[in-house]
Amino acid sequence: MRLLEYEGRLLLGEVDLAIPEGEVATSPEEVRSIAEELGGDVVVKAQVPVGGRGKAGGIKIAGDPPQAEVFASELLGSRLKGEEISRLLVVEAVEIISEFYLSVILDRERKGPVIIFSPEGGVDIEKVAEEDPEKIFKVTPDPLIGLQPFMIREIIYKSGVDSGVFKPLYKALEKIYSAYERFGATLVEINPLALTSAGELIVLDSKVKIDDDSRSMEKVEKLLPGGEKTGSKSELERRAEEIGLQYVELDGEIGVIGNGAGLVMSTLDVLSQKGGNPANFLDVGGGADAELVKDAFELVTSKPGLSGIFINIFGGITRCDEIAKGLVEALSDSRSDLPLIVRLTGTNKKDGRKILREHGITAASTLDEGADQIIKLTN
Ligand code: GDP
Ligand code: MN
Repeated sequence: MRLLEYEGRLLLGEVDLAIPEGEVATSPEEVRSIAEELGGDVVVKAQVPVGGRGKAGGIKIAGDPPQAEVFASELLGSRLKGEEISRLLVVEAVEIISEFYLSVILDRERKGPVIIFSPEGGVDIEKVAEEDPEKIFKVTPDPLIGLQPFMIREIIYKSGVDSGVFKPLYKALEKIYSAYERFGATLVEINPLALTSAGELIVLDSKVKIDDDSRSMEKVEKLLPGGEKTGSKSELERRAEEIGLQYVELDGEIGVIGNGAGLVMSTLDVLSQKGGNPANFLDVGGGADAELVKDAFELVTSKPGLSGIFINIFGGITRCDEIAKGLVEALSDSRSDLPLIVRLTGTNKKDGRKILREHGITAASTLDEGADQIIKLTN
């Protein structure tokens, strides 16, 4: 589960990392009154599950409460990188001397955490990694032994930060690691960790991911404001949940629908191996009927920026002719004119493919063939 900024910062506050004073709001009036209470400049921040909000216009510094209210009315209800803004975090503005990057990430290959620090924070860390890789410092503690003092010292000395920052940075490293352990996180990323004129390090933005199956989940949920867990999901993921579909958003542009988690995962793998970029994972499950397939198609095609759709169905319990009927219906209702390839096999496969062909839909008989076709069409 990916937490929104206002949720993640609550967890970081629990381990005594410094976070700016502030609160969440859902209306411009609320934003104004929070700004009045905080006094001075405030930052109005869109709470959406995407990065780079600053550059996209989702972070505004307001000089007084009326201005905060104006920013709030512009932001609320608008979209940022495809996500509707329904909540804003209003925090006191901090005077920044410099911006650092600090994170703990679960490296699944190593089966343990990696701590990453860079004195070049505030910007995209991937960009730093590309342009100034020597400005990124890592240590890899053993998950059983934990973060050792020598590792903290190593990262601090190597990074070349001012000696005045040693002490607060040492503490911040200890605290971020303890948050990672305590909350069963797979990612705790602070960017920027800002150095203030008072010589303090303060968390100005964070991204936290929690392992849903972690024992700590209960602890995390207790700390979050009641019933707002869904805020961390994207709009389409929420809609999928309501319909009863397993849907996970990915970064690519080929929409994928399949039945059975294993089948969908191998579909994503095969597409990726062949150079395609899947836009999502969508499992309609076993025994899906025409109606559900139709819903799935509508859901997948409502994501902007797609270049094509690949449907991979193995008809076991779900009969291929049922699936085909659902697709034909979905297509006749849909405004989508995206290239579509359907791989259909299993029970009643001949009938299914026949129905598709009669309606001008290209049917492939193997995963390999279907993947090749959709990649060719979308290139
Ligand atoms: P992101 O763009 O989604 O990563 O959102 P951030 O919360 O990191 O904000 C983007 C940038 O806005 C930060 O890197 C800061 O430079 C700036 N910013 C955020 N909060 C403050 C603040 O309190 N004071 C000042 N001066 N700048 C801030
Ligand atoms: Mn940031």
